[in-house]
Amino acid sequence: MIASDNPYLIVFLGAPGAGKGTQTILTAEKFKLLRVEMSKLLEQHFAHAKSGEKIVVNGTDYLIADQLKRWHEGFLVEAAVVSKILEQKLKALLEWGEDIILDGFPRSVEQMEFVMDFVEKEIGKDRILIFYLDVSEESSLKRNSHRRICELMRHPVLSHSDTEKLTICPLDGSRLVSRALDDPEVIKVRLQEFRKQTLPLLDYFEKKGINVHRVNGEQSIADVFGEISGIMSLMISQEI
Ligand SMILES: [Zn+2]
Repeated sequence: MIASDNPYLIVFLGAPGAGKGTQTILTAEKFKLLRVEMSKLLEQHFAHAKSGEKIVVNGTDYLIADQLKRWHEGFLVEAAVVSKILEQKLKALLEWGEDIILDGFPRSVEQMEFVMDFVEKEIGKDRILIFYLDVSEESSLKRNSHRRICELMRHPVLSHSDTEKLTICPLDGSRLVSRALDDPEVIKVRLQEFRKQTLPLLDYFEKKGINVHRVNGEQSIADVFGEISGIMSLMISQEI
């Protein structure tokens, strides 16, 4: 845990392939944060859903099967559904008093709005730390078209000059395999969705008075992590 009193919420934003997955794993390990991977949370939720199962948010029914279809086509699962699933998870985790790092949430202003009241009340605006990993669309496309994950823990390995010769996961030694999601047309849809839905979050957080730390994601994995670690360490030193 970073500090003795309330938990922190660390959020990573960035285009698909910006390196959010890799950097959240590194940051979580170094600073002892609980990592919540939104795609994994959704996958688990969907995998255990019974046929015809719904999620009810503010009186509206959302059929799980419809959400799953959207997801496979590269579109965002509806905000209310994602946010509801995340909020349930956060409620459980906050009872432990641990710092939390999110991977893959929020993807849109709408998603964030569904949980903002909860987060402000339970964590506090001053304890939300946002990182934006900035990469060009060209890098995003290139990295995603050759992206792999490891068999054992699903650690993401982007196509990157640092990683192209790897055949096993550097964290646990299991085999690296291609991801089913990463069809070129699906990647293009995800990039459009990022531009339309995720990028406006930068303004949204800044208007809320929450500072966004912009990090150049074109650098090597180690250099990106160096910058993030520096910002995290500075924050911790101010806390003590
Ligand atoms: Zn691994």
